[in-house]
Amino acid sequence: MISGFSMDEPRIKVKVSEIRCETGNVKTFKLILAEGEIVFTPGQFVMLYAKIDGEEVGRAYSIASSPLDKGSIELTIELTPDGRLTPFFHKKVEVGDEFEISQPKGHFTYTEEMGNEIVLIAGGSGVVPFRSIMKYCTQKKLDTKITLLYSAKTVDRIIYREELNRLADENRNITVLYTITRQTEGWDGRAGRIDRQLLEGNFSPKKLFYICGPIPFIRDIGATLKELGADRQNIKRDVWGA
Ligand SMILES: Cc1cc2nc3c(=O)[nH]c(=O)nc-3n(C[C@H](O)[C@H](O)[C@H](O)COP(=O)(O)OP(=O)(O)OC[C@H]3O[C@@H](n4cnc5c(N)ncnc54)[C@H](O)[C@@H]3O)c2cc1C
Repeated sequence: MISGFSMDEPRIKVKVSEIRCETGNVKTFKLILAEGEIVFTPGQFVMLYAKIDGEEVGRAYSIASSPLDKGSIELTIELTPDGRLTPFFHKKVEVGDEFEISQPKGHFTYTEEMGNEIVLIAGGSGVVPFRSIMKYCTQKKLDTKITLLYSAKTVDRIIYREELNRLADENRNITVLYTITRQTEGWDGRAGRIDRQLLEGNFSPKKLFYICGPIPFIRDIGATLKELGADRQNIKRDVWGA
């Protein structure tokens, strides 16, 4: 159950205008709004609804695009092979199909008043809300210092790799550090998990830390940050699982 969600609030009608393959099992869907604008803060999510075999299925998806990209939003969806909504989106949905989404939700957000040094810590598809934050800060030319620590299982499962590299080239306040946990042959970057040493090297008690990924990933990294002396209030977590 996702808190802060009311069944009565008006939904937003959207149409798929573009589908991009990010990796072998991850696709980004660009959704244009039938009318009006959607106002959200980077890091928020929406519920996405689809009728599947006559039954309505709704799931939460972080908004991957920046709030400054008007008239549309992007959702990046990883395939869960035995799930309900993601196989439908990966195999059946086409450009032109129409859906409904909820109003934006959630407190896993960043805006400039919150501080100007942030560390975004992603495991797998947990990088999605961070794309929104990084794009927003770059478009707004904020002086926020952003470090993205991004752990993926294999090199070809890094989502948005070229785009993240471009953002880091364009915005000198952004540093992107990938770490690969499996199949590292041919990879000359960092290998292994996001461990205490890596976190310590990027630690300062005045930084804000955002963690998004599988539940054990969030738990372990949150615990290490606390050991290093991070204030509870400076650690934000986006939990996707039950
Ligand atoms: C705030 C938030 C943001 C999110 N953002 C994203 C995002 O940006 N991108 C993304 O890809 N995902 C995101 N998610 C996850 C997303 O909401 C879905 O959970 C995910 O896409 C799987 O949906 P599905 O319908 O395909 O799978 P589901 O049908 O929900 O199934 C998921 C898994 O649970 C198992 N399962 C289902 N029912 C049962 C049962 N009764 N007993 C035991 N096992 C069961 C299934 O076999 C499957 O392995 C987010 C979640 C939250 C809460």
